[in-house]
Amino acid sequence: MNLNSIPAFQDNYIWVLNDEAGKCIIVDPGEAAPVLNAIAKNNWQPEAILLTHHHHDHVGGVKELLQTFPGLVVYGPEETQDKGTNRVVREGDKVNILECEFSVIATPGHTLGHLCYFSFPYLFCGDTLFSGGCGRLFEGTPKQMYESFQKLNKLPQETLVCCAHEYTESNIKFALSILPEDQVLIRYYREVKELRLKNHATLPTTLQIERGINLFLRTEDADLKDIIQKETSLQQPEQVFAWLRAKKDSF
Ligand code: ZN
Ligand code: FE
Repeated sequence: MNLNSIPAFQDNYIWVLNDEAGKCIIVDPGEAAPVLNAIAKNNWQPEAILLTHHHHDHVGGVKELLQTFPGLVVYGPEETQDKGTNRVVREGDKVNILECEFSVIATPGHTLGHLCYFSFPYLFCGDTLFSGGCGRLFEGTPKQMYESFQKLNKLPQETLVCCAHEYTESNIKFALSILPEDQVLIRYYREVKELRLKNHATLPTTLQIERGINLFLRTEDADLKDIIQKETSLQQPEQVFAWLRAKKDSF
């Protein structure tokens, strides 16, 4: 399989997996035009769409794609049923498309029905895990998002994390505001800034990289707890997570 990212809107990526014959899977097509262009240019034949959640920047292109390709199977959580989904999936389901078997992982937090799709090495995680950060809690609680992160953190370190937004630079900037002396973060920030200057994507990332640079995965980190200690005595991993999320909200 071959992994592609199509930029959309300001900072979205629409991920496409294609096989050698050109059959492809499209993830979270928030708009149709850039996808239709890429399909024409690469001579792809779309087989299926995977949807992570109901927000417009992830589902906005589905209906137009269905008009052009009426045979498309659209997998998504219940909350996307009125957005073109014709195969509702939930936690624990297996989705077989092309040569891939995707495990469906429920990751509530950003929305209550948010799903991630994993077929090694690919993880399509929508607006749950971002490189260096975590999705906003529009519908869920910090506890739910924390538990969603724990689920994703069980995947192999080589997992290619395909997030739906290019937020890495601002996320690392935030992380450095919390841990300004962290060498891993300082080094990574430099790399990311260079990539962004050339307008290159910082994604996909890997779970191994994220375990180093993503504070939301470092909730047991001693340096982080030292900092938090100055403000609160609540330092259970889940509380560290909630503290970070609240800080990020006002960053
Ligand atoms: Zn969203
Ligand atoms: Fe989004």
